[in-house]
Amino acid sequence: MFKIPIYHNIIMSSHIKTQKGKPREDETKKILHMPLSSSRTIELKEKHRAGGQGALSARESRELLLGGNKAHQEKVVASGTTPKSRYNKIVAKEADYLTVVCSDARNQTLDSEDDKLVGLQIRVAGNVIPESGVSRYEIEEAAEGLKEGGLVLITAHIKCGAVAEHVKWKEGGCCDTGSQPLNRLLEAVKGADARENALAQLDHLNGVVGDDKSVAAVLYDWETGTYEFLSPEPPEMVELLVSKWELAHKLADDGTLGERLNATQKPHAIVIGSNDMPFSVDTVFDSEQNAIFSTTGSEGGLDNYDEASILYAVEHLGVAHIAFVAPENGSTGAMFEKWEEDIRTMGAVADKLDSRALKITRLGYDLSNGACKDMQE
Ligand SMILES: [Zn+2]
Repeated sequence: MFKIPIYHNIIMSSHIKTQKGKPREDETKKILHMPLSSSRTIELKEKHRAGGQGALSARESRELLLGGNKAHQEKVVASGTTPKSRYNKIVAKEADYLTVVCSDARNQTLDSEDDKLVGLQIRVAGNVIPESGVSRYEIEEAAEGLKEGGLVLITAHIKCGAVAEHVKWKEGGCCDTGSQPLNRLLEAVKGADARENALAQLDHLNGVVGDDKSVAAVLYDWETGTYEFLSPEPPEMVELLVSKWELAHKLADDGTLGERLNATQKPHAIVIGSNDMPFSVDTVFDSEQNAIFSTTGSEGGLDNYDEASILYAVEHLGVAHIAFVAPENGSTGAMFEKWEEDIRTMGAVADKLDSRALKITRLGYDLSNGACKDMQE
């Protein structure tokens, strides 16, 4: 069944501390067989958590991602499986579920290394269902990657920035924003709040996904870690997936989590993951809630929604670092080249790249062990 040994280990760790005092780091590691973040990674995490916009430089952001990835590799080893076996299920179109999740950094990921369920993710601002002609991949195509009876799940969240922008844009008479990607995203978001938007996206999804798949929507409250089902009688798999939010929230909460998440979205990077990654990017970089903003790219390149997300992350959230990540194979370099070309067509963002106020890191994901390697080195 569904196990969450990472959290188990956190509980065990505090148990050991109360019984025997604070153990030395190497002893704890030996006892628990679990990764402990290096002191440098902890230092960077704390710097990011305490700081405001732009607390980490692009170099520090990259270092924090790679430090987190080391913890992911150790968890992969502990899980006794490999990312490759999950990837094979994706290639064989046998994935269990597909989530459409808002790019917002405050969202809690649904997967972990020891999950038995294999999921695909589409990270897109406002958790909008990709529209053909706007997106370079379509939801129908993505849903075909699921086994029969597989689940397509929309995970919306409270206080969605994309919905707030949509409401403002509508009140202002739906004027041209000066950015075609942004215009298209604002058109695709619906309703007056996150719940209404999720229900509209669910309606759209019902019209395009075949009867052999189930669809559902859930609204996540990152302030409390709780959730609300937006579809009547959601399949059992939905409950199984989202029930971990409450536990993760409890374990991460030092008494200020809800307040910190509520204050502002504060990512140190925007991470663009390919649509065939066997884990969410949050899992691959062992990221804390509010650490990374993310979107999904594909072999066809980046689409209007990705570009709108990048624009928002760079201009509004002030990130200085864009990271690409995809399973490393013969065509990864060419795909990353295409992603960068697409980004360089975006005026304001391209200017920041030219002036080196913004940097791109290209990371190849090793399916045999979960390691990320800088492809520029
Ligand atoms: Zn959102």
